[in-house]
Amino acid sequence: MPQPPKEKTPGSGPSADPAGLRAALCRWFGEVGEDYPWRSTRDPYEVLVSEVMLQQTQVATVLGRGYYRRWLERFPDVGALAAAEEAEVLRVWEGLGYYSRARNLQRAARAVVEEHGGEFPRDPAAIEALPGVGRYTAGAVASFAFDAPVPAVDANIARVLARLFDFRERIDTGAGQRQLWGWAAELVPGAGGRVWNSALMELGQRVCKARSAACEGCPAARWCLCADPLALPVKKDRPAVTEVDEHVLVARRPGEILLQQETGRRRGGLWKLPGREGGEVAGMRPSGKQRYGITRYRVTMHLYETDSAEAREGERWFRLEEVAELPMPSPYRRAVSRYLGD
Ligand code: SF4
Repeated sequence: MPQPPKEKTPGSGPSADPAGLRAALCRWFGEVGEDYPWRSTRDPYEVLVSEVMLQQTQVATVLGRGYYRRWLERFPDVGALAAAEEAEVLRVWEGLGYYSRARNLQRAARAVVEEHGGEFPRDPAAIEALPGVGRYTAGAVASFAFDAPVPAVDANIARVLARLFDFRERIDTGAGQRQLWGWAAELVPGAGGRVWNSALMELGQRVCKARSAACEGCPAARWCLCADPLALPVKKDRPAVTEVDEHVLVARRPGEILLQQETGRRRGGLWKLPGREGGEVAGMRPSGKQRYGITRYRVTMHLYETDSAEAREGERWFRLEEVAELPMPSPYRRAVSRYLGD
């Protein structure tokens, strides 16, 4: 039996046999790798859309619920997205949450049109200079679309690298990130960045998962230094979930409903049911409630039906038939649909 070419010192970095590790992982990926649409395209815009959608959303939602397909049908290229109204962009994004992602995609599309003559840049640094594009997304677009030999360290790859090299320091610090990106850069082959980054990612998605590690049968097992995979990667504890209450009106008059426009970075421009302070609705009886989560908050939305509300600043009456076209965060869309019977 050949001896595993393991490093002597945990956390010491890429294997003494990176070529062997790469060959084994790429072979495995060729046999079992998922054939997602963004893996078969070479269009950098399509890759960018998929990467941005997948930042905080599961593959099953992006694909299974048709978000990726619908987006590309409506905005098939940077020109179409750059020219669209923001309200429409937010409406097509609706249901995915974290709406700043949609706005940033549009800003990136406009930058490609205005600063690159509509031609998506190939250089990773130029891609990273696009609005809302970070180092990971730039690496993913450059390697997946152009096969560039650049690293792309997402949560899956960070976990795989931390385990492969038994990295026992925190990975969510500047030093931890520099270490992982450094190893990823050393490992990426001069040709074949697309397959290599995809293979590492797939290993994290299917084998070396956050809550389980199928080390027996793992294609990287010969090179892996980790003795206790589930103890890695080391990260700061997540903040506790906070329960909050929200009070909103379902205010109607014949053929119309009152809505409030959101402000702020996260949801600015979207429409929601008008919010009120708890004291303002103290004498009203809630007609229903709904729960939803956002970042570290668990929100209980209390709904109050009324036919005597006045529109305040930032609020306006909409005809019921207009509501379907307005961009609206999912929890409010569900509530509105419940009351209007869509
Ligand atoms: S051997 Fe286990 S810990 Fe190491 S990369 Fe494979 S699944 Fe992860």
